[in-house]
Amino acid sequence: MFELVLKNGQVFWEDSLIAADLAINGEKIAAVGFGLSGRREIDVSGRWVLPGAIDAHTHFSLPFAGAISADDFYSGSIAGAAGGVTTFIDFTAQKGDEGVLESLSRRKAEADPLVGIDYSLHACIGRYNKTVEEQLPQLAAEGVTSLKIFMAYGKSGLMQNDASLLKVLSACRQHGILITVHAENGVIIDALTDAATEAGELGIEALPKTRPVFTEVEAIRRISDFARHTGCKVYVVHVSSGDGAHTLWGERVNGSPLAGETCPQYLYLDDSMLVPPDGHLWGCCPPIRSKPQQDLLWKCLATGEIAVIATDHCPFTRADKNTWNNKITSLPMGLPGIETFPGLVLNGVHSEKLSLKRAVRAISENPARIFGLYPEKGSLIPGTDADVMIYNPDCNTPISARSMHMRTDYSPYEGLACRGRNEMTLLRGQIVFNQAEGWKGQKGGGKFLKRKATDPDFF
Ligand SMILES: [Zn+2]
Repeated sequence: MFELVLKNGQVFWEDSLIAADLAINGEKIAAVGFGLSGRREIDVSGRWVLPGAIDAHTHFSLPFAGAISADDFYSGSIAGAAGGVTTFIDFTAQKGDEGVLESLSRRKAEADPLVGIDYSLHACIGRYNKTVEEQLPQLAAEGVTSLKIFMAYGKSGLMQNDASLLKVLSACRQHGILITVHAENGVIIDALTDAATEAGELGIEALPKTRPVFTEVEAIRRISDFARHTGCKVYVVHVSSGDGAHTLWGERVNGSPLAGETCPQYLYLDDSMLVPPDGHLWGCCPPIRSKPQQDLLWKCLATGEIAVIATDHCPFTRADKNTWNNKITSLPMGLPGIETFPGLVLNGVHSEKLSLKRAVRAISENPARIFGLYPEKGSLIPGTDADVMIYNPDCNTPISARSMHMRTDYSPYEGLACRGRNEMTLLRGQIVFNQAEGWKGQKGGGKFLKRKATDPDFF
């Protein structure tokens, strides 16, 4: 007799759905099998029983262009749980010349009292200095096994030049730390932005013009050369274009230890939306791309050329976005996404853009492997955390900001007919969300996950 049994579901097991029961004892999955009985049983017939989604890229309470992203760690956890997310990975922020441990303890202190689902952090730096270098072994020992760097944003002091890329990748390789990188050519983007400023053309149409696909492709190719030379494993965040994704895969095939992430906005939104009067509400970096780029990106997902989908969740309200004064240089960049994330990816399964295997790997198993959380997270293997998403594949719910939990007053996907939705989310055996009652988890009930090193077999 198990404590809890999810009866008669379609359980995701070895890359496909099987008719089975899933039993839970305490915080752990106890068994997957037939005819299991529990003191408590929930009938989930007709539902898909999937591992909880992992959003490996969120920005809660992030200051940007005079605004602060609208979700904090608590509202973001609730929104995530509503969508079927049980773990997220956010970022630390380096102040001045401090090391990575100072920003880590500050960000943990901010998150711990608020988180409602499990979480980790990527250590994020602008300045790669001696202190950072000396602290890398301790950082990994604290369970933070990824370092985020930028190849753009020179004007905000975040960009690494080629000399520092070489240093930071060499050191991270030595300490078994994965590099996660924002790959856009910042020098070219700054030059194009300066030219647009001089010409007085900083409207929303300037966003894709000052950040053309070429700047992403060039940066991916360059970081790939650094990865190949140093042997450091590199994860490219928010690949926005099909050309970028395809380039990444070509480099990987040629022996470069790379993995790539894309986001739902690059799969569902295109640059025809970047026009007045409301185009700025769709402003994010890298920008949303053309339809052909989007089609190619779906193909790269279907073949596994892009391993992970995450959100880059960074929501602003209309009022925040409207402070931009018709200048992309003053626009708070980012889109809401954590709540619509698993639903939009699984919608791609219904519309036959990718297989269920690829979809579940992209939102759960692959981020768990790459970020040192597997199999505890990202699997339904008995003995591991009972993080489960119970998904109804047979309903149609048009996306509407009103019915969601993210603290924004618009959705970039408003009205989109999304087939299927999450109905119930379990975090370590506890129901933290169900459609009938909403949020049932606890503020501070999530825990900080100490991560292992990335799975070398993945690269
Ligand atoms: Zn981001």
